[in-house]
Amino acid sequence: MSLFASVELAPRDPILGLNEQFNADPNPAKVNLGVGVYYDENGKLPLLKCVAAAEHQMLEAPKARGYLPIDGIAAYDKAVQGLVFGDAATASGRIATVQGLGGTGGLKVGADFLKRLNPNAQVLISDPSWENHRALFTNAGFTVGTYPYYDAAQRGIAIDGLLGALNTAAAGTIVVLHACCHNPTGYDLSAAQWEQVIAAVKARGLVPFLDMAYQGFGQGIAEDGAVVQQFLASGLDFFVSTSFSKSFSLYGERVGALSVVCASKEEASRVLSQLKIVIRTNYSNPPTHGASVVATVLTTPALRAQWEQELAGMRQRIKAMRVALVEKLQAAGVKGDLSYITTQQGMFSYSGLNAAQMQRLRSEFGIYGVDSGRICVAALNQHNLDAVAKAIAAVI
Ligand code: PMP
Repeated sequence: MSLFASVELAPRDPILGLNEQFNADPNPAKVNLGVGVYYDENGKLPLLKCVAAAEHQMLEAPKARGYLPIDGIAAYDKAVQGLVFGDAATASGRIATVQGLGGTGGLKVGADFLKRLNPNAQVLISDPSWENHRALFTNAGFTVGTYPYYDAAQRGIAIDGLLGALNTAAAGTIVVLHACCHNPTGYDLSAAQWEQVIAAVKARGLVPFLDMAYQGFGQGIAEDGAVVQQFLASGLDFFVSTSFSKSFSLYGERVGALSVVCASKEEASRVLSQLKIVIRTNYSNPPTHGASVVATVLTTPALRAQWEQELAGMRQRIKAMRVALVEKLQAAGVKGDLSYITTQQGMFSYSGLNAAQMQRLRSEFGIYGVDSGRICVAALNQHNLDAVAKAIAAVI
């Protein structure tokens, strides 16, 4: 008998499965709103000018590709710290940062480290959450539960349920929190609500793990990062995973980081030594190209200014699409309060449509969103907006 005779066929990734279905659809008017990527006004994945300029600069002075240090490019790690935590916190030396393989890689290194630190801890993720949170922490060996997050009836955050779950969680429970632009709902906590979360985390001795995959897509780089400042001010130890997949449109380069905020510089050096063991025994050391690009952009003032401008452009285009979607839905005859579409932040909108309606959008109109009702606002543009609004109006 073959060694693999008993291997079961794993279910397809639901979102990638949707992409396959989209690619196979012959409808010329099809629109893919199931993706988690930013498309420009022509429906194309952008290559940022700051990225092209940094790559040009790198080509002019080509370098050999030796192994990177286990924790990545030092200038990159430092630039990430400056971006995420600010110069004052970085100077304290109490943050350990390692280059990661995208945001997912940062989360996984953090999860593996936490498993060694506290093997019996439970993990709580938001209900709903990015679907890989559950799988990633489960595969790292944790039992994963949820805390209430989305209040469908009120179209907002179930803050009482959220705080209730934190206030009854066992000490040491790892709480995964979306720093901004919550995936999939688009609803973010206010600064006052973050203070309540921080107070509960502190009172119960929980371990906060901020997942920051969309910094700059909500209100702005500093505005979206304000939650990190709130956690810093609280004096808590906490984890932050960073992704540059979206903010630099560098999805395929796998550029991200994990940062662990510790009590002291000495503690941070011990934590860093353990993070390096996780990395060394997993993929040894990270790749050079994407992180070199990001480090070059972040540390070259002109390129940094250009990046901030380009990121603002993506953010503003998404916001404009939210406003336009509301207008087009109203014009198509959809009644009721649609302000939730412009209240939500980031790439996604939880449309409130049910699975049957989402399936009708696919089969009758060639408009592909996730069955949960999540649509990618960053994939809307002037060319497809009319068709999308009319189709939504038809299935409501
Ligand atoms: N966290 C969240 C909430 C995300 O939405 C994503 C990307 N879809 C990630 C992490 C992973 O990002 P990356 O592609 O950089 O691994």
